[in-house]
Amino acid sequence: MGWWDKLKGALGGGGAAANGDRNALYFYVRCERCADVVRVRVNTANELQQEFAEADGVDGYSLRKTVVDARCFRPIQVMMRFDGRRRETAREIQDGRFITADEFEAAR
Ligand SMILES: [Zn+2]
Repeated sequence: MGWWDKLKGALGGGGAAANGDRNALYFYVRCERCADVVRVRVNTANELQQEFAEADGVDGYSLRKTVVDARCFRPIQVMMRFDGRRRETAREIQDGRFITADEFEAAR
């Protein structure tokens, strides 16, 4: 095992990554123009914006994200909504479409 394999093992160790991913939400998109696929990671602990209701404080959260694939670099706009417990309730996308993790793996 060479030094590079050791380095990869150290960086990609399952334990550390799993801990850091507790607040991670993954979604997958396909570009409408070039059909490239992108995996996007969202940190639900600090990337969501609070949505305030008039009556009783925080109503939920929203997320706007611009995704750029590695082939045509055309920005894909993603908008998601979450309830007060940061569970996803709706998602919209422009210039691309959402795909499943399986579709992502198959397309790579
Ligand atoms: Zn593209």
